[in-house]
Amino acid sequence: MIPRRRLPLLWADLREVLKTPFISADEAAASVAAFEREFATAIQVPHAFAVSSGREALCLIIDGLGLVPGDEIVIPAYTLGELLPLLGRRGLRLVPADIDPDSFNVTVDNVRAALTPQTRALLVVHLLGAPCDLEGLALLAAARGVALIEDCAHAPGATIAGRPVGSFGVAALFSLEANKALAAFGGGVLTTADAGLAARVAAILAPRPRREGPAIRKFLRKWVEEIVVRSPLYGLLVRVLFAEGTASRFENFYRRSNDRARQAVSQPPAFAGIQARWARRRLAELQARQSRMAPVWQQLAAGLPAGFSAQQRNRHGQPVFYNFVARYHGGRSLAQLRRAAQRCGLDLGIGSEVMDDSARLLGRDDCPGAATAYAQAVLLPCWDGMDRSGAQAVLERLHKAAIDG
Ligand SMILES: *Cc1c(COP(=O)(O)O)cnc(C)c1O
Repeated sequence: MIPRRRLPLLWADLREVLKTPFISADEAAASVAAFEREFATAIQVPHAFAVSSGREALCLIIDGLGLVPGDEIVIPAYTLGELLPLLGRRGLRLVPADIDPDSFNVTVDNVRAALTPQTRALLVVHLLGAPCDLEGLALLAAARGVALIEDCAHAPGATIAGRPVGSFGVAALFSLEANKALAAFGGGVLTTADAGLAARVAAILAPRPRREGPAIRKFLRKWVEEIVVRSPLYGLLVRVLFAEGTASRFENFYRRSNDRARQAVSQPPAFAGIQARWARRRLAELQARQSRMAPVWQQLAAGLPAGFSAQQRNRHGQPVFYNFVARYHGGRSLAQLRRAAQRCGLDLGIGSEVMDDSARLLGRDDCPGAATAYAQAVLLPCWDGMDRSGAQAVLERLHKAAIDG
Protein backbone atom coordinates (compact mmCIF):
# COMPACT_ATOMS: atom_id res chain seq x y z
CA MET A 1 0.00 0.00 0.00
CA ILE A 2 1.37 3.43 -0.92
CA PRO A 3 0.53 5.55 2.15
CA ARG A 4 -0.98 9.01 1.76
CA ARG A 5 1.78 10.55 3.89
CA ARG A 6 5.31 9.70 4.81
CA LEU A 7 7.28 11.42 7.56
CA PRO A 8 11.02 11.40 7.12
CA LEU A 9 12.88 9.21 9.64
CA LEU A 10 16.12 11.16 9.77
CA TRP A 11 19.24 10.05 11.57
CA ALA A 12 20.00 13.75 12.16
CA ASP A 13 16.74 14.10 14.15
CA LEU A 14 17.55 11.07 16.27
CA ARG A 15 21.08 12.38 16.89
CA GLU A 16 19.55 15.53 18.42
CA VAL A 17 17.53 13.33 20.79
CA LEU A 18 20.66 11.50 21.89
CA LYS A 19 22.51 14.79 22.50
CA THR A 20 19.75 16.23 24.71
CA PRO A 21 21.00 14.98 28.11
CA PHE A 22 24.27 16.87 27.55
CA ILE A 23 22.66 20.21 26.70
CA SER A 24 22.20 22.77 29.47
CA ALA A 25 19.07 24.84 30.02
CA ASP A 26 20.97 27.95 28.91
CA GLU A 27 22.05 26.27 25.68
CA ALA A 28 18.45 25.17 25.04
CA ALA A 29 17.21 28.73 25.57
CA ALA A 30 19.91 30.01 23.21
CA SER A 31 18.80 27.55 20.50
CA VAL A 32 15.19 28.74 20.82
CA ALA A 33 16.26 32.38 20.62
CA ALA A 34 18.42 31.64 17.56
CA PHE A 35 15.52 29.85 15.86
CA GLU A 36 13.19 32.79 16.55
CA ARG A 37 15.73 35.23 15.04
CA GLU A 38 16.27 33.06 11.98
CA PHE A 39 12.53 32.55 11.48
CA ALA A 40 11.83 36.29 11.77
CA THR A 41 14.55 36.94 9.19
CA ALA A 42 13.10 34.33 6.82
CA ILE A 43 9.61 35.87 7.04
CA GLN A 44 11.04 39.42 6.94
CA VAL A 45 9.35 40.58 10.14
CA PRO A 46 10.94 41.92 13.33
CA HIS A 47 9.25 39.57 15.81
CA ALA A 48 8.85 35.77 15.99
CA PHE A 49 7.73 33.76 19.02
CA ALA A 50 8.21 29.99 19.09
CA VAL A 51 5.27 28.45 20.98
CA SER A 52 3.70 25.05 21.62
CA SER A 53 1.51 24.87 18.49
CA GLY A 54 -0.01 26.80 15.63
CA ARG A 55 -3.23 26.84 17.63
CA GLU A 56 -1.54 28.51 20.58
CA ALA A 57 -0.07 31.10 18.20
CA LEU A 58 -3.58 31.85 16.92
CA CYS A 59 -4.97 32.22 20.45
CA LEU A 60 -2.11 34.55 21.38
CA ILE A 61 -2.82 36.70 18.34
CA ILE A 62 -6.54 36.92 19.22
CA ASP A 63 -5.78 37.79 22.85
CA GLY A 64 -2.94 40.14 21.93
CA LEU A 65 -5.23 42.03 19.54
CA GLY A 66 -7.70 42.49 22.40
CA LEU A 67 -10.63 40.81 20.65
CA VAL A 68 -13.49 40.37 23.12
CA PRO A 69 -16.71 38.31 23.24
CA GLY A 70 -19.18 39.49 20.64
CA ASP A 71 -16.52 40.66 18.18
CA GLU A 72 -16.86 39.21 14.71
CA ILE A 73 -14.08 37.42 12.91
CA VAL A 74 -14.29 36.33 9.28
CA ILE A 75 -12.73 32.92 8.68
CA PRO A 76 -12.25 30.72 5.60
CA ALA A 77 -15.20 28.44 4.88
CA TYR A 78 -12.71 25.63 4.19
CA THR A 79 -9.99 25.17 6.79
CA LEU A 80 -9.02 23.13 9.85
CA GLY A 81 -12.21 22.60 11.89
CA GLU A 82 -10.33 22.50 15.20
CA LEU A 83 -9.71 26.23 14.93
CA LEU A 84 -13.43 26.95 15.33
CA PRO A 85 -13.86 25.96 18.99
CA LEU A 86 -10.69 27.87 19.90
CA LEU A 87 -12.25 31.04 18.54
CA GLY A 88 -15.76 30.17 19.71
CA ARG A 89 -14.58 29.62 23.27
CA ARG A 90 -13.41 33.24 23.31
CA GLY A 91 -16.98 34.35 22.55
CA LEU A 92 -16.10 35.52 19.03
CA ARG A 93 -18.79 35.39 16.36
CA LEU A 94 -17.45 33.38 13.45
CA VAL A 95 -18.51 34.37 9.94
CA PRO A 96 -17.31 32.13 7.10
CA ALA A 97 -16.15 33.59 3.76
CA ASP A 98 -16.59 31.16 0.89
CA ILE A 99 -13.67 29.81 -1.11
CA ASP A 100 -12.94 29.27 -4.76
CA PRO A 101 -12.99 25.46 -5.08
CA ASP A 102 -10.29 25.54 -7.79
CA SER A 103 -7.69 27.16 -5.54
CA PHE A 104 -9.32 26.20 -2.18
CA ASN A 105 -8.67 29.79 -1.01
CA VAL A 106 -10.98 32.66 -0.07
CA THR A 107 -11.57 35.42 -2.62
CA VAL A 108 -11.68 39.17 -2.06
CA ASP A 109 -15.32 39.31 -3.19
CA ASN A 110 -16.42 36.59 -0.79
CA VAL A 111 -14.58 38.20 2.11
CA ARG A 112 -16.12 41.58 1.29
CA ALA A 113 -19.57 39.98 1.36
CA ALA A 114 -18.86 38.51 4.82
CA LEU A 115 -17.68 41.77 6.44
CA THR A 116 -20.07 43.68 8.70
CA PRO A 117 -19.62 46.79 10.87
CA GLN A 118 -18.92 44.40 13.78
CA THR A 119 -16.02 42.65 12.02
CA ARG A 120 -12.81 43.16 13.96
CA ALA A 121 -10.54 40.56 12.35
CA LEU A 122 -10.08 38.56 9.18
CA LEU A 123 -8.34 35.18 9.32
CA VAL A 124 -7.12 33.87 5.97
CA VAL A 125 -5.24 30.68 5.17
CA HIS A 126 -2.83 29.90 2.33
CA LEU A 127 -4.30 26.48 1.80
CA LEU A 128 -1.92 23.65 0.97
CA GLY A 129 0.88 26.19 0.44
CA ALA A 130 -0.84 28.29 -2.24
CA PRO A 131 -0.93 31.99 -1.33
CA CYS A 132 -4.40 33.51 -1.28
CA ASP A 133 -5.00 36.95 -2.82
CA LEU A 134 -3.22 38.73 0.01
CA GLU A 135 -2.59 41.94 -1.83
CA GLY A 136 -6.30 42.42 -2.46
CA LEU A 137 -7.25 41.19 1.01
CA ALA A 138 -4.72 43.46 2.74
CA LEU A 139 -6.16 46.47 0.90
CA LEU A 140 -9.70 45.46 1.83
CA ALA A 141 -8.79 44.87 5.49
CA ALA A 142 -7.00 48.22 5.71
CA ALA A 143 -9.93 50.06 4.11
CA ARG A 144 -12.35 48.51 6.63
CA GLY A 145 -10.08 48.81 9.66
CA VAL A 146 -10.03 45.04 10.17
CA ALA A 147 -7.01 43.16 11.57
CA LEU A 148 -5.68 40.73 8.95
CA ILE A 149 -4.34 37.48 10.43
CA GLU A 150 -2.51 35.03 8.17
CA ASP A 151 -2.72 31.30 8.85
CA CYS A 152 0.57 30.12 7.30
CA ALA A 153 0.39 26.59 8.74
CA HIS A 154 0.82 25.15 5.22
CA ALA A 155 2.87 27.88 3.65
CA PRO A 156 6.29 28.60 5.19
CA GLY A 157 8.42 29.91 2.34
CA ALA A 158 5.57 30.91 -0.01
CA THR A 159 5.96 34.42 -1.43
CA ILE A 160 3.96 37.12 -3.20
CA ALA A 161 5.97 39.45 -5.44
CA GLY A 162 9.07 38.18 -3.65
CA ARG A 163 7.73 38.95 -0.20
CA PRO A 164 7.11 36.05 2.23
CA VAL A 165 3.55 35.27 3.27
CA GLY A 166 3.23 35.94 6.96
CA SER A 167 4.57 39.48 6.52
CA PHE A 168 1.39 41.00 5.03
CA GLY A 169 -1.08 40.87 7.91
CA VAL A 170 -0.85 42.28 11.41
CA ALA A 171 0.31 38.84 12.55
CA ALA A 172 0.69 35.28 11.29
CA LEU A 173 0.72 31.78 12.70
CA PHE A 174 2.85 28.86 11.52
CA SER A 175 2.67 25.21 12.55
CA LEU A 176 5.68 22.97 13.16
CA GLU A 177 3.52 19.86 13.58
CA ALA A 178 5.13 16.61 12.44
CA ASN A 179 3.17 16.43 9.19
CA LYS A 180 3.64 20.06 8.15
CA ALA A 181 6.13 21.48 5.65
CA LEU A 182 8.46 22.75 8.35
CA ALA A 183 8.19 20.05 10.97
CA ALA A 184 9.66 20.03 14.46
CA PHE A 185 7.43 17.24 15.80
CA GLY A 186 5.09 19.87 17.20
CA GLY A 187 5.28 23.55 17.97
CA GLY A 188 4.26 26.72 16.23
CA VAL A 189 5.48 30.23 15.53
CA LEU A 190 3.75 33.59 15.83
CA THR A 191 5.21 36.37 13.69
CA THR A 192 4.32 40.05 13.69
CA ALA A 193 5.67 43.37 12.52
CA ASP A 194 3.55 45.22 15.10
CA ALA A 195 5.70 46.22 18.09
CA GLY A 196 2.67 46.81 20.32
CA LEU A 197 1.22 43.39 19.57
CA ALA A 198 4.64 41.79 20.10
CA ALA A 199 4.90 43.42 23.54
CA ARG A 200 1.43 42.23 24.54
CA VAL A 201 2.14 38.68 23.33
CA ALA A 202 5.43 38.65 25.26
CA ALA A 203 3.53 39.73 28.38
CA ILE A 204 0.89 36.97 27.98
CA LEU A 205 3.65 34.42 27.37
CA ALA A 206 4.88 34.53 30.96
CA PRO A 207 8.07 32.51 31.40
CA ARG A 208 7.41 28.79 31.66
CA PRO A 209 9.74 25.98 32.55
CA ARG A 210 11.38 24.56 29.43
CA ARG A 211 11.16 20.77 29.42
CA GLU A 212 12.58 18.49 26.73
CA GLY A 213 10.66 15.34 27.78
CA PRO A 214 7.28 16.01 26.12
CA ALA A 215 8.89 16.86 22.76
CA ILE A 216 11.03 13.71 22.85
CA ARG A 217 8.04 11.53 23.77
CA LYS A 218 6.09 12.96 20.85
CA PHE A 219 9.05 12.34 18.55
CA LEU A 220 9.15 8.68 19.62
CA ARG A 221 5.38 8.33 19.13
CA LYS A 222 5.62 9.74 15.62
CA TRP A 223 8.49 7.39 14.78
CA VAL A 224 6.45 4.39 15.95
CA GLU A 225 3.47 5.58 13.87
CA GLU A 226 5.74 6.02 10.87
CA ILE A 227 7.27 2.58 11.23
CA VAL A 228 3.73 1.12 11.23
CA VAL A 229 2.88 3.18 8.12
CA ARG A 230 5.89 1.67 6.35
CA SER A 231 5.15 -1.90 7.43
CA PRO A 232 2.99 -4.43 5.54
CA LEU A 233 0.51 -4.05 8.40
CA TYR A 234 -0.51 -0.64 7.04
CA GLY A 235 -2.38 -2.08 4.06
CA LEU A 236 -4.61 -4.00 6.44
CA LEU A 237 -5.02 -1.08 8.86
CA VAL A 238 -6.07 1.25 6.07
CA ARG A 239 -8.84 -1.10 5.00
CA VAL A 240 -10.14 -1.37 8.54
CA LEU A 241 -9.66 2.18 9.82
CA PHE A 242 -10.64 3.95 6.62
CA ALA A 243 -13.51 1.67 5.68
CA GLU A 244 -16.89 3.28 5.18
CA GLY A 245 -18.59 3.58 8.53
CA THR A 246 -15.31 3.50 10.47
CA ALA A 247 -13.41 6.29 8.74
CA SER A 248 -15.11 9.26 10.36
CA ARG A 249 -15.11 7.58 13.75
CA PHE A 250 -11.39 6.83 13.45
CA GLU A 251 -10.69 10.38 12.27
CA ASN A 252 -12.56 11.78 15.28
CA PHE A 253 -10.79 9.42 17.64
CA TYR A 254 -7.37 10.31 16.24
CA ARG A 255 -8.00 14.05 16.38
CA ARG A 256 -9.46 13.81 19.88
CA SER A 257 -6.59 11.74 21.23
CA ASN A 258 -4.19 14.36 19.87
CA ASP A 259 -6.30 17.03 21.56
CA ARG A 260 -6.27 15.13 24.83
CA ALA A 261 -2.49 14.87 24.66
CA ARG A 262 -2.39 18.67 24.36
CA GLN A 263 -4.85 19.25 27.17
CA ALA A 264 -3.24 16.74 29.53
CA VAL A 265 -0.77 19.50 30.33
CA SER A 266 -2.38 22.28 32.37
CA GLN A 267 -0.30 24.93 30.61
CA PRO A 268 1.05 24.69 27.07
CA PRO A 269 4.71 23.73 27.34
CA ALA A 270 7.44 26.15 26.33
CA PHE A 271 9.09 25.46 22.98
CA ALA A 272 11.84 22.97 23.75
CA GLY A 273 15.51 23.28 22.88
CA ILE A 274 15.34 20.09 20.86
CA GLN A 275 12.43 21.46 18.83
CA ALA A 276 14.53 24.53 18.07
CA ARG A 277 17.43 22.34 16.90
CA TRP A 278 15.13 20.28 14.66
CA ALA A 279 13.40 23.40 13.34
CA ARG A 280 16.62 25.32 12.61
CA ARG A 281 17.87 22.51 10.42
CA ARG A 282 14.52 22.23 8.62
CA LEU A 283 14.42 26.00 8.10
CA ALA A 284 17.91 25.99 6.56
CA GLU A 285 16.82 23.18 4.23
CA LEU A 286 13.42 24.59 3.33
CA GLN A 287 14.43 25.80 -0.12
CA ALA A 288 16.15 22.53 -0.98
CA ARG A 289 13.05 20.63 0.13
CA GLN A 290 10.92 22.80 -2.11
CA SER A 291 13.13 22.16 -5.13
CA ARG A 292 13.00 18.42 -4.50
CA MET A 293 9.21 18.40 -4.22
CA ALA A 294 8.37 20.73 -7.13
CA PRO A 295 9.00 18.19 -9.93
CA VAL A 296 7.12 15.45 -8.05
CA TRP A 297 4.11 17.72 -7.53
CA GLN A 298 4.17 18.75 -11.19
CA GLN A 299 4.48 15.18 -12.39
CA LEU A 300 1.39 14.23 -10.36
CA ALA A 301 -0.57 17.25 -11.59
CA ALA A 302 0.31 16.54 -15.22
CA GLY A 303 -0.56 12.84 -15.08
CA LEU A 304 -3.96 12.84 -13.35
CA PRO A 305 -6.67 10.67 -14.92
CA ALA A 306 -9.82 12.17 -16.43
CA GLY A 307 -12.22 13.32 -13.72
CA PHE A 308 -9.46 14.81 -11.54
CA SER A 309 -8.11 18.36 -11.43
CA ALA A 310 -5.19 19.53 -9.33
CA GLN A 311 -5.40 22.55 -7.02
CA GLN A 312 -4.87 25.74 -9.01
CA ARG A 313 -1.80 27.47 -7.68
CA ASN A 314 0.51 30.29 -8.78
CA ARG A 315 -2.41 32.69 -9.05
CA HIS A 316 -1.28 35.14 -6.46
CA GLY A 317 2.36 34.27 -5.82
CA GLN A 318 4.91 31.50 -5.47
CA PRO A 319 3.38 28.54 -3.64
CA VAL A 320 5.26 25.99 -1.56
CA PHE A 321 4.70 22.27 -1.50
CA TYR A 322 2.82 20.73 1.34
CA ASN A 323 0.24 18.10 0.37
CA PHE A 324 -1.04 17.21 -3.08
CA VAL A 325 -4.80 17.62 -3.23
CA ALA A 326 -6.94 17.24 -6.33
CA ARG A 327 -10.67 17.56 -6.93
CA TYR A 328 -12.47 14.45 -8.10
CA HIS A 329 -15.57 15.03 -10.22
CA GLY A 330 -15.56 11.73 -12.04
CA GLY A 331 -19.06 10.55 -11.18
CA ARG A 332 -18.47 8.15 -8.31
CA SER A 333 -18.58 8.99 -4.63
CA LEU A 334 -15.29 9.65 -2.85
CA ALA A 335 -15.91 6.60 -0.68
CA GLN A 336 -16.24 4.40 -3.78
CA LEU A 337 -13.14 5.93 -5.31
CA ARG A 338 -11.22 5.33 -2.12
CA ARG A 339 -12.29 1.70 -1.94
CA ALA A 340 -11.21 1.13 -5.53
CA ALA A 341 -7.88 2.83 -4.80
CA GLN A 342 -7.32 0.64 -1.75
CA ARG A 343 -7.82 -2.43 -3.92
CA CYS A 344 -5.12 -1.03 -6.23
CA GLY A 345 -2.70 -0.48 -3.32
CA LEU A 346 -3.19 3.26 -3.02
CA ASP A 347 -4.19 5.05 0.18
CA LEU A 348 -6.18 8.28 -0.37
CA GLY A 349 -7.43 10.89 2.10
CA ILE A 350 -10.95 12.28 1.64
CA GLY A 351 -13.45 14.52 3.45
CA SER A 352 -12.25 15.92 6.75
CA GLU A 353 -9.00 13.98 6.41
CA VAL A 354 -8.12 16.71 3.91
CA MET A 355 -9.78 19.79 5.48
CA ASP A 356 -13.12 20.75 7.00
CA ASP A 357 -16.15 22.57 5.63
CA SER A 358 -16.10 25.13 8.43
CA ALA A 359 -19.23 26.86 7.13
CA ARG A 360 -21.18 23.63 7.55
CA LEU A 361 -19.65 23.11 11.00
CA LEU A 362 -21.06 26.54 11.87
CA GLY A 363 -24.47 25.39 10.68
CA ARG A 364 -24.47 27.46 7.50
CA ASP A 365 -25.33 26.38 4.00
CA ASP A 366 -24.40 29.51 2.08
CA CYS A 367 -20.84 28.56 1.08
CA PRO A 368 -21.16 26.37 -2.02
CA GLY A 369 -17.44 26.64 -2.82
CA ALA A 370 -16.51 25.04 0.49
CA ALA A 371 -19.22 22.39 0.11
CA THR A 372 -17.84 21.49 -3.33
CA ALA A 373 -14.26 21.37 -2.06
CA TYR A 374 -15.27 19.16 0.86
CA ALA A 375 -17.25 16.84 -1.39
CA GLN A 376 -14.47 16.50 -3.98
CA ALA A 377 -11.05 16.94 -2.34
CA VAL A 378 -8.75 13.92 -2.54
CA LEU A 379 -5.36 13.78 -0.86
CA LEU A 380 -2.82 11.86 -2.93
CA PRO A 381 0.52 10.54 -1.70
CA CYS A 382 3.25 13.16 -2.26
CA TRP A 383 6.21 13.67 0.03
CA ASP A 384 9.74 14.89 0.22
CA GLY A 385 11.86 12.02 -1.03
CA MET A 386 9.28 10.61 -3.45
CA ASP A 387 11.07 10.18 -6.78
CA ARG A 388 9.86 10.01 -10.38
CA SER A 389 9.13 6.32 -10.24
CA GLY A 390 7.30 6.75 -6.93
CA ALA A 391 5.06 9.40 -8.46
CA GLN A 392 4.60 7.19 -11.53
CA ALA A 393 3.44 4.34 -9.30
CA VAL A 394 0.89 6.64 -7.62
CA LEU A 395 -0.45 7.70 -11.02
CA GLU A 396 -0.63 4.16 -12.40
CA ARG A 397 -2.63 2.97 -9.40
CA LEU A 398 -4.88 6.02 -9.55
CA HIS A 399 -5.61 5.41 -13.24
CA LYS A 400 -6.45 1.81 -12.46
CA ALA A 401 -8.70 2.83 -9.56
CA ALA A 402 -10.43 5.46 -11.70
CA ILE A 403 -11.61 2.89 -14.24
CA ASP A 404 -12.10 -0.02 -11.80
CA GLY A 405 -15.79 0.08 -10.88
C1 LIG B 1 -2.21 22.42 11.26
C2 LIG B 1 -2.99 23.63 11.07
C3 LIG B 1 -3.10 24.64 12.06
C4 LIG B 1 -2.65 24.52 13.47
O1 LIG B 1 -1.44 24.00 13.72
P1 LIG B 1 -1.14 23.11 15.03
O2 LIG B 1 0.34 23.30 15.17
O3 LIG B 1 -1.54 21.72 14.70
O4 LIG B 1 -1.88 23.67 16.18
C5 LIG B 1 -3.77 25.81 11.73
N1 LIG B 1 -4.35 25.96 10.53
C6 LIG B 1 -4.31 25.01 9.58
C7 LIG B 1 -4.99 25.25 8.28
C8 LIG B 1 -3.65 23.81 9.82
O5 LIG B 1 -3.65 22.83 8.89
